[in-house]
Amino acid sequence: MLKVLFAASEGVPFAQTGGLADVIGSLPKELLKLGVDVRIIMPKYGIIPSVYKDQFQKLATFTVPLAWRKQYGGLEKYEYAGLTFYFIDNEYYFKRGGLYGYGDEGERYAYFSRAVLEALPHLDFKPDILHCHDWQTALICFFLKTLYHNIPFYQNLKTLFTIHNLKYQGVCPKVVLTDILGVGWEYFTKDSLEFYDQVNFLKGGLGYADLITTVSKTYAEEIKTAYYGEQLDGLLRQKSDKLTGIINGIDYTNFDPAMDENLSVPYSWQNCTLKQQNKKFLQEKLNLPVRDVPLIAIIARLVSQKGLDLIACVLNEILAQDVQLVILGTGEYKYEELFRWAAQHYPSKVSAQITFNNSLARQIYAGSDLFLMPSLFEPCGLGQMIALRYGSLPIVRETGGLKDTVRPFNEFTGEGNGFSFTNYNAHDMLYTIERALSFYYNKDLWCQLVQNAMQTDCSWQRPAQEYLKLYNLATLA
Ligand code: ADP
Repeated sequence: MLKVLFAASEGVPFAQTGGLADVIGSLPKELLKLGVDVRIIMPKYGIIPSVYKDQFQKLATFTVPLAWRKQYGGLEKYEYAGLTFYFIDNEYYFKRGGLYGYGDEGERYAYFSRAVLEALPHLDFKPDILHCHDWQTALICFFLKTLYHNIPFYQNLKTLFTIHNLKYQGVCPKVVLTDILGVGWEYFTKDSLEFYDQVNFLKGGLGYADLITTVSKTYAEEIKTAYYGEQLDGLLRQKSDKLTGIINGIDYTNFDPAMDENLSVPYSWQNCTLKQQNKKFLQEKLNLPVRDVPLIAIIARLVSQKGLDLIACVLNEILAQDVQLVILGTGEYKYEELFRWAAQHYPSKVSAQITFNNSLARQIYAGSDLFLMPSLFEPCGLGQMIALRYGSLPIVRETGGLKDTVRPFNEFTGEGNGFSFTNYNAHDMLYTIERALSFYYNKDLWCQLVQNAMQTDCSWQRPAQEYLKLYNLATLA
């Protein structure tokens, strides 16, 4: 039986800041069904709810070398929803009020990467493959090939590195190389960790993993170009024989409008007219006029990646239409202010919910007709997939995973599950929104589109099979 250990900085239900945690909590479930013994290792953060933490079982303690430091390492274990999670315990690094943003992320995740390798001999499980996710765990691939390659225990271990978002790379001052990683200046080269006179953790994954993946086929191509490559496109072109794109899925039991307890009326694609009742519920809840009008939703981190500058540019034109707009998100002040302003000026059309609220998010997916996500770039995107599952037709820019999951409606063949445009251009987006709205009152057609959307396969089934193929390939590397 193939054994895989996921290493990641966050995972549902223990700690989450973004889509990565959803992947870590759901892809392993599908891999288990394919007969892979997959387990997860992550930091034991102070913010993990005590309902879980109090039940963690202590397995071992060991020492983690970090240049001149000898740090404490604790290993704990917890079974959750059929999955085995391991946790690295070190209160100095992880017992804080949140996950990131403390200014010493380089040291914390260098520690975590080293601790994962040091913990391996203490696990009740010896993996064939370490599957490392994002820059926080990229150094595992580097350390394995440089500091551990002569130790027999580690010699057959293979690594797969997944880029969830190339924008975040873990770039630190160069002194980190000797003072924290504890390696020599021979690794301060373009082919190794050097990056514009600094140390780049992500390069530890790109340069040293046996195989590399990212979270959609289109993003895998895009990041090899200067526009999307975040100054690593050259290296990614060089590594293109190792780089594959595999789209993410969503957890189909968790995101299921027929079973979702947050909805006023559950529904499935066979009775999707019940969506109307969820819309009425949402309009009432958000103090919008209760009537039959197209309702557009935005649920996102309010950052420029999500295409909010396009929306800012034509917001008045969008609101000149007979529509309602619901925004749920938090993020940069200027975008929060934009939507607060819109809600004040268009009280019968706009509701701005500047907060993070999982239950409300689901009610908005269920109660909206259209889901706007015109991202500047989007490695995969979960929002549009949840929207499809809940029958809210996505309007997206054709980039990354948005391009790979949303098929634009073709009025001649009736095919499609949403609407899309190519260029990062506000008026192209506006035109696409207006085109989508023009079909709204054609109820038969709209119902067909909603059914198309809800029947789109965004599950983990196919992606998990693709990962399995790569794991098998990696064992031959
Ligand atoms: P990213 O990981 O870049 O933030 P994704 O689309 O991959 O974007 O994942 C975002 C996830 O977070 C989606 O499941 C979305 O529904 C959820 N989400 C984003 N903002 C909020 C919010 N304010 N309240 C509740 N859920 C949110």
